[in-house]
Amino acid sequence: MKHTTNYHILIGAFLGLLIGIYTKSFATEIVSSAIIYTADLLADIFVSALKMILVPVIFFSISVGIANLSEHKQSLRIWLLTFLFFFISMALAIILGMMSMRFFEPGHGMTLTMFAEQTKDFHTSSLTLPIFFKQFLSSIFVSPLKAMSENNILGVITFSILTGFAIAGSSKEFLRVKIIFNDLLGIIMKIVAWIIRFSPAGIAALIIKLVTQQSPDLFVTLSKFMTVIIGMTLFHGIVILPLLLYFFTKIDVITLWRGAREAIMTAFATSSSSATIPVTLRSVEKNLNVKSDIAGFVIPIGATMNMDGTALYEASAALFIANLSGIDLQIGQQLIIFCMAMVSAIGAPGIPSAGMVTMAMVLQSVGLPIEALAILLPIDRLLDTFRTAVNVEGDIVVSLIVQKFVHKS
Ligand code: ASP
Repeated sequence: MKHTTNYHILIGAFLGLLIGIYTKSFATEIVSSAIIYTADLLADIFVSALKMILVPVIFFSISVGIANLSEHKQSLRIWLLTFLFFFISMALAIILGMMSMRFFEPGHGMTLTMFAEQTKDFHTSSLTLPIFFKQFLSSIFVSPLKAMSENNILGVITFSILTGFAIAGSSKEFLRVKIIFNDLLGIIMKIVAWIIRFSPAGIAALIIKLVTQQSPDLFVTLSKFMTVIIGMTLFHGIVILPLLLYFFTKIDVITLWRGAREAIMTAFATSSSSATIPVTLRSVEKNLNVKSDIAGFVIPIGATMNMDGTALYEASAALFIANLSGIDLQIGQQLIIFCMAMVSAIGAPGIPSAGMVTMAMVLQSVGLPIEALAILLPIDRLLDTFRTAVNVEGDIVVSLIVQKFVHKS
């Protein structure tokens, strides 16, 4: 059943692409609106089902993960390793993005004025670092019920971490709770398995929507930029992350891909690391044999904090906009972009186009025009697919590396 679903997902994605192209280019109006309606319906059911199960998955996997981890007497080590590798993988992604922008120089010969049409009606509220920081903090400490009902993932994570520590701190006293939580997590993961069975259809539907909704005009003007971004995001996903994984664990890229593809395809289709959490958790535990206490901790936290694709994109896009604006960034400003790209990738929630919102902060930090975001918005739906896939792959790679270190000792 495991492999069947795996192949079905690939077939689903491929069929989605074919049907999408057919609908956009060849179908009669009646047929195309019927297809689009059905795709919309299926995609909606799939994404809603993932969102339905998301909060319980996060709550139980993190609290149970932390409660079980503390028994290892390794929990501090796991925290440190997790954050160290989040940092390393994102730093590599940013460096790759910035170097490729220097090398390929997309935007060379273009100017912002070429895009006057797009930028004229664009309004954005400014997001500075202090405002961002304040928003970030206030979204962490909120009533758990409010956080859960609003799908505020950061809020849920905070409450889950605290619950996990409370159980771990008095594990004798709360032994019953721990056993019940473990069982509840088992039940939730059963539901996840059912949703995953439906995922080939869901992914096909999402891809049909993606193909039919894109308008190609800006694509042509920005094709070089898009090619560099997609190329480098793929390079990070196909070469850098697998090398990092191989270096620390000796796990090869084929094993990684076989185990991770369900999650990577779901991330690609949904453009949401958070919505993908249930699938990612199941993939690393069932296909890649990561222990549930490590997976339950690294994956949900990674989905909101560790975003290699987003970090790469934010830094590269800032350099691209500097190019368009005719601004030559000094080395100090480039360093600021490096740091801000990391902060904004960490701060971006794992939902579609979240990176575009936090990117305002990166641009502002070095005085680049935020209006330029308007140029990037129309192409974001497509770019988001690739960066979300790599974001999720990064979480999977870090969970495997952390597990290797923990089990070696
Ligand atoms: N969509 C991305 C994610 O969920 C975040 C982003 O917009 O970069 O991982």
